[in-house]
Amino acid sequence: MTLVYNALPREEARILSQLRTGHTALNECLARIRAEQSASCACRMGAELIQHFLFYCPKWRSERTQLRETMGDGWGDLTYALGGWSGRRDGRNGCFVVGPRERWKPYLKIIKAIIQYVIKTGRFQPKATVGEEIEVADVVGVVEETEIGKVTGRVKMT
Ligand SMILES: [Zn+2]
Repeated sequence: MTLVYNALPREEARILSQLRTGHTALNECLARIRAEQSASCACRMGAELIQHFLFYCPKWRSERTQLRETMGDGWGDLTYALGGWSGRRDGRNGCFVVGPRERWKPYLKIIKAIIQYVIKTGRFQPKATVGEEIEVADVVGVVEETEIGKVTGRVKMT
């Protein structure tokens, strides 16, 4: 994965690392660290989990068009979307859809589409609200895979 991170501009790498570590600005995550009262999504259709946000939330239907097209059959598969080997099998012949694990390489095109989607929604951008300011690094924690943990952006918590 380090190669993938290196291929991305800093801001995009930051978004990918947030998605991969599960430390995002989505309500489900903020509720876990008690920065947000409820894990519920604003669409009221359940918790704002990463999967909900990326694939299902009705709020982002139009922002999602390009991503959906890029992912094709892999739609809804979070591991695949974030550059991992998903182990998904073809229902007809039982073979791995993305080929064997040892030959797996993340699809940069899909990762890019995911990141573009996140940017379009603005959902991970710092909130411009009044309140206590904290370092993003406190939220994302240490990212083991890369040096991306040392982010400098800020988010404001309400
Ligand atoms: Zn939603």
